[in-house]
Amino acid sequence: MATIELQQVEKKFGEVYAVKPMDLTDNDGEFVALLGPSGCGKTTTLRMMSGLETVTAGKIMLDGKNITWLKPADRNVAFVFQFYALYPHISVHDNIAFPLRAEGMARAEMDKRVAEVVDMLQISHLLKLRPGKLSGGDKQRVALARALVRRPAAFLMDEPLGALDAEFRETMRAEIKRLHISQHATTVYVTHDQVEAMAMADRIVVMSAAEAQQIGTPAEVYYDPANLFVARFIGSPGMNLVAGRLAGDAVQMPGPNNSVPVPPAQLESVRRAVGADGAVVVGFRPEAASLSAEGKLHGEVYATDMHGSYKLLHTTMNESDIIHIRADRLADYSIGAPVRFDIEPAMVRFFHPTTQQAIGQEAGR
Ligand code: ATP
Repeated sequence: MATIELQQVEKKFGEVYAVKPMDLTDNDGEFVALLGPSGCGKTTTLRMMSGLETVTAGKIMLDGKNITWLKPADRNVAFVFQFYALYPHISVHDNIAFPLRAEGMARAEMDKRVAEVVDMLQISHLLKLRPGKLSGGDKQRVALARALVRRPAAFLMDEPLGALDAEFRETMRAEIKRLHISQHATTVYVTHDQVEAMAMADRIVVMSAAEAQQIGTPAEVYYDPANLFVARFIGSPGMNLVAGRLAGDAVQMPGPNNSVPVPPAQLESVRRAVGADGAVVVGFRPEAASLSAEGKLHGEVYATDMHGSYKLLHTTMNESDIIHIRADRLADYSIGAPVRFDIEPAMVRFFHPTTQQAIGQEAGR
């Protein structure tokens, strides 16, 4: 497989950026997900890698070779689309063999390659059928087989599971991941589904407004978001974010006596980052808060959601801030009841309210 590198790659339509200058390296065998809301530039980034879209500036390298201006067919990368169009009037075998036939490959070699790939995806029993007879999941498997059979240097996938229902998505997600691991396949995968990105990717590029907001492992983007956008976007619900004020070595949050200590390792960078007024945003995940009768922080139950293995408490600390706390699935909370909780100090993050950037991330988790 191969390494794909974007060097200051950008795309403008007229005067509008679809993708602002981006650096990204997808290392040999790595699975990188491009994740972000609709219109943030994910597909355009992928299409530039594939050659279906030209770049406005920057370079695209494949294993150190400049491929920026090569035609899609000359790039040795395979593109897997959502709604991948299989040819309806020919068999699964012929659909899979199609790209090899187009290259003029000899029949014996072609059959060998097809046999290999259908064996790997466990779809040998489908070879004689027409696509119309296949389930959604099997159609995707055939589409994958057709991409794989060319033995490309890398896979570019644009929401390949988007058209599938929830059950098939799960199965295919696991299958693509297994395939990625067994083939050591360099993959770039576009999705707007964070669960999919978190589950599958080695690294995630979180995009918003034509820009990479953060490039990191699933754990990094979850525990150490680079800015408020990533903190809100990753996680369901996103990170709790509460406006506070630094006073001494703690941050005062709304409500009487609601303060969190700043871990000593982060204190210096928080002090340096906040202005004279000490304004800072405190962030913590729902599971970083624990309810207890002796908890130092005070709130009131606003609503509760049952999530099966746990309950999510929507809690008010004052009129405007609702925070989410993960609670025991069996516990009973009535609306309006007072609750007390603590936040695990190592799980607290601080953000600058104006620049929206994380402060003191270097202190680790
Ligand atoms: P989605 O998940 O909805 O596909 P995306 O993150 O993949 O979104 P892109 O399709 O890459 O986003 O689009 C990024 C921006 O570029 C959007 O504002 C889109 O309207 C714009 N854009 C994309 N293609 C073109 C085009 N051919 N001409 C003009 N603008 C375009």
